[in-house]
Amino acid sequence: MSGGVFRWMLGMVLLASVAPFAFALSPPRPALEEIRHTSVPDYTRVIITLSARADYKHFRVAANQAHDRPDRIVIDFSPTRLDPNLREPIPVDDGLLKRIRTGQFSPTTARVVIDLEQIESYTAFPLYSPYRLIIDVKGKSRKTEVDQPAEQAPAPQPYRIMIDPGHGGRDPGAVGVGGLKEKTVVLAISKRLGKKLESRLKLETRRPVKVLYTRASDVFIPLPDRTALANAEGADLFISIHANASENPHLQGVETYYLNNTNDRATIRLASLENGPLYGRKNGRELSFNAETADIVSDLIQNHKVEESRVFAQVIQSSMMAQVAKRHTQARNLGVKKGPFYVLVGAEMPCVLAEVSFLTHRVQGKLLRSSAYQEAIAEGLFQGMARFIKEELPRMDSL
Ligand SMILES: [Zn+2]
Repeated sequence: MSGGVFRWMLGMVLLASVAPFAFALSPPRPALEEIRHTSVPDYTRVIITLSARADYKHFRVAANQAHDRPDRIVIDFSPTRLDPNLREPIPVDDGLLKRIRTGQFSPTTARVVIDLEQIESYTAFPLYSPYRLIIDVKGKSRKTEVDQPAEQAPAPQPYRIMIDPGHGGRDPGAVGVGGLKEKTVVLAISKRLGKKLESRLKLETRRPVKVLYTRASDVFIPLPDRTALANAEGADLFISIHANASENPHLQGVETYYLNNTNDRATIRLASLENGPLYGRKNGRELSFNAETADIVSDLIQNHKVEESRVFAQVIQSSMMAQVAKRHTQARNLGVKKGPFYVLVGAEMPCVLAEVSFLTHRVQGKLLRSSAYQEAIAEGLFQGMARFIKEELPRMDSL
């Protein structure tokens, strides 16, 4: 992290010394730099990346047979210029979208047009650092098209639980005492949790359970792809598992987050760590994380189950704390907090991020290596999830 900040500062010093006047006279227009898409059955996420923040508006236009124009979603960014590499249409052809086209609609407006095949609905929301607009497109669910035989009682739908082991691949996450990597320990804990859910949750809830992972090995998964996967799979719950780090070697404890705005400086620092240098800005002008958080969250909360997630976080925190304290009696309960964690953004189900212990603390960092401690954390997470599913979820569904 500090290396990135240093390089950024160096960059700004060089920039300031070379071109102060050009910078002041004509601020560069944001460029529309990249468009990519992730398709799974009945769900497509389109990610449009800009070099800096720009205003956008989006609307849907009905098909026009006379002009051979399909149903489409139009997104205008302004002021924005189109990167010359993006002029070619991008074929998608996944049953929901046909293709994605771009154009410089006016000298100041770049336009993206998504030609549609057949969709149910879509949502659009921004992500920051770097600035992106996410378009989530839902198809007509095939489940509703299959008729159940009338005499047969419908089989209970399984609970679908998405476990998200933090980081992975080229992103090690935090590195703790003795070189233990966050990506390694959170994957181990995630698999322990998954086994418990598979073997015990059905007995407790009398419904089948399907456990899903955003990653089951040491691979890099971009943050927006993680919730996209959970949405696409129709997950009922999403839990992102992380281990904490601090420059203060005495700091230790257990805490659980849900997505919301905050003014707490320590939380903003942690969120910027978890949101990660790999997802960091390309453009120094947008570097003030503090100034952005209010915008980030006000845009996002509409898409998010805040109250359900807050309750989910409380249940997880108390059961995790109870189990961890059996192995580390001094462990501190740092409580439930809210924060702007991108990995939770856009999720359509209750979702939390658990910071299971501090890798950088002498005792917890060592304990995190032991299977007994990993097992205690997984047991705490399991009990919290089981309690939430049995006691809280039915109450929320009936609201
Ligand atoms: Zn992490």
